[in-house]
Amino acid sequence: MTAREPRPFRQQAFIDGAFVAADSGATFAVRDPATDAVIAEVPDMGAAETRRAIEAAARALPGWRGRLAKERAQIMRRWHEAMLAEQERLAQIITAEQGKPLAEARGEIAYGAAYLDWFAEEGRRVYGDIIPQQSRDKRILVMKQAIGVTAAITPWNFPSAMICRKAGAAIAAGCTMVVKPAELTPLSAIALAEMAQRAGVPDGVFNVVTTNDPAPVGAELTGNALVRKITFTGSTEVGKILLRQAAENVQKCSMELGGNAPFIVFGDADLDLAVKGALATKYRNSGQTCVCANRFLVERGVAGPFAQKLAAAVAALKVGRGVEPGVVIGPLIEEAAAAKVERLVADARARGAKVLTGGARHALGGTFYAPTVLADVSPEMEIFREEIFGPVAAIIPFEDEAEAIRLANSTQYGLAAYFYCRDIARAFRVAEALEFGMVGVNESLMSSEAAPFGGVKQSGMGREGSKYGIEDYLEIKYVCLGNV
Ligand code: NAD
Repeated sequence: MTAREPRPFRQQAFIDGAFVAADSGATFAVRDPATDAVIAEVPDMGAAETRRAIEAAARALPGWRGRLAKERAQIMRRWHEAMLAEQERLAQIITAEQGKPLAEARGEIAYGAAYLDWFAEEGRRVYGDIIPQQSRDKRILVMKQAIGVTAAITPWNFPSAMICRKAGAAIAAGCTMVVKPAELTPLSAIALAEMAQRAGVPDGVFNVVTTNDPAPVGAELTGNALVRKITFTGSTEVGKILLRQAAENVQKCSMELGGNAPFIVFGDADLDLAVKGALATKYRNSGQTCVCANRFLVERGVAGPFAQKLAAAVAALKVGRGVEPGVVIGPLIEEAAAAKVERLVADARARGAKVLTGGARHALGGTFYAPTVLADVSPEMEIFREEIFGPVAAIIPFEDEAEAIRLANSTQYGLAAYFYCRDIARAFRVAEALEFGMVGVNESLMSSEAAPFGGVKQSGMGREGSKYGIEDYLEIKYVCLGNV
């Protein structure tokens, strides 16, 4: 198999341990964003199939929750190993349906698989407590138990890893899960189901329902009383819809929503390090990550040199199809995404921003957008307020630390923030003042299975990864032992 000719993808959903079609036989097309060619047709399912998947997950729950944690861990480790053994094929699936360069897709598989491995271990350390009693004849015990059937709705930008991050924690904790992947990238989810089956994950524990019409499936996942928790990664707008729906059954919710990350460069920063960090956080996945730096706040004295260095590095980034060697910038996911970037850049230019490099679609056409650096951006521009989700760095000069913090926090979002400086006192001060769930100090790649990922404000609630991530899938039960 060559990188250009991935073998035919599995094109069925996965319910109760079986690969299945939609009841109606309906399918929808999956396209390669680099060419717009149809690469697969997958089942277009609705509420009925979703209900069956939920019921399968409910049937599987007692058996799975009842297993020893170490038995679950063994299966999860086999799932992790299956992913790594198939890393190349799984990466090719990501590149084919999502467009990111193969090297990044390989990284996503390793990153996603790491969550299965991590939570295999965390699942074995779900400890309870014995609390000192308040009266002599009682004992206060606390135990933690799997929540039950869970539902995950995931985005297209990390079509494999976003599922692993959720399923790893849920399934290790003893929950079962129904996943609804993004309609643009269902093939990676189906491939994960193949890996789960190969690893011996029991029927019904992990299910994948594919659909081109997310609303009815989402309504069933939130409206079905068997589902005790919904975990979502995607836009704030859809997150709010799901939160409203989840209120009906008082479902627990974890929400990983949009971001508008500031990237602050103080006058004393190592500018080369900051440029290296800017390249990594801004241009990875063509700027389509929720933790992407969205606003480059640069102290006025170094704004010029930083912008020049960044623009020179960005102009050298190779744009092309993700399967081509050396490519670091793939296409944007779809036409609407490219049109949004065009709109934001046009608004910024009209209000006085300067294009240092890029500033238009790439000569390759389609949804390829040239990696761009804009200088002299100001807070009134749309690009300051909106999530760009494209390879465009917007540089906003600031005067002092207080203004940097004020500008950084002047957003409804609170996912990731980054800043570069050499002053240790400032490092603590600014890290504490930033209203974000994750802060990188002289570091722009901070996501890891060992660390808590998540946001504050309208970027969401709950944490994924780390020892905290499994808590989102556990209920606390208090047992009071009397007359002892
Ligand atoms: P999106 O909200 O449009 O879609 C996400 C998922 O929600 C998809 O599976 C989609 O089918 C589903 N969906 C859409 N409408 C629905 C409905 N009415 N009911 C149920 N499900 C519905 O987001 P997207 O465009 O796929 O992803 C980009 C967004 O995701 C960005 O805002 C990005 O910041 C965010 N994101 C956040 C994180 C994080 O961890 N915080 C990670 C990745 C992406």
